[in-house]
Amino acid sequence: MSASVQRKLLDILACPIDKYYPLKLLEFNVKDQLIVDGVLLCEKCGRFYPIMDEIPVMLPDDLRSKKEDLDFLAKWKSKLPNSVLDSGKPWNLKST
Ligand SMILES: [Zn+2]
Repeated sequence: MSASVQRKLLDILACPIDKYYPLKLLEFNVKDQLIVDGVLLCEKCGRFYPIMDEIPVMLPDDLRSKKEDLDFLAKWKSKLPNSVLDSGKPWNLKST
C-alpha cells in the first residue's frame, strides 16, 4: 500500500457499528509517511479500531479478538488517551 492510498482509505472509513464519520486518527509509528501502527477512534460510541501492519482493522464486536485488542492497548498504552485505556469499547484495560 502506498502512503497516498492509505490516506485516502483512512479518510473515508466510518465506524462499522454506527456509521459515524469521520473517525479520529492517532499515529503511533510512521514510516515513509505510511502509518504502520495507529488507531482510529469513534467519538460517538467510544470504540477503537487498531491499525496494525499498515492495515486498519474495522471489525464488528463479535468478530474482534479480545486478547489481540487488549494486547494492542497494552502495547501502545503510552500513546493512547486515558479515555480509550479506561473506557474504550468493546473492551479496555479496566474491563479485564
Ligand atoms: Zn462508533
